Amino acid sequence: MWAGIRENMVAKCICSVCGQKIDIGGIAPRLEGVKVYCRICGATTHHKF
Ligand SMILES: [Zn+2]
Repeated sequence: MWAGIRENMVAKCICSVCGQKIDIGGIAPRLEGVKVYCRICGATTHHKF
């Protein structure tokens, strides 16, 4: 039952600077969005769930 929900939780965010896909599955979602740090270019992308 939980397996399907868990799969949907694995989200990907695309860096607005370099376009790199960032795995945000381990980040807790917030109503106002989360800041995702890009390990490739060092930019911080604001991602809204
Ligand atoms: Zn980047």
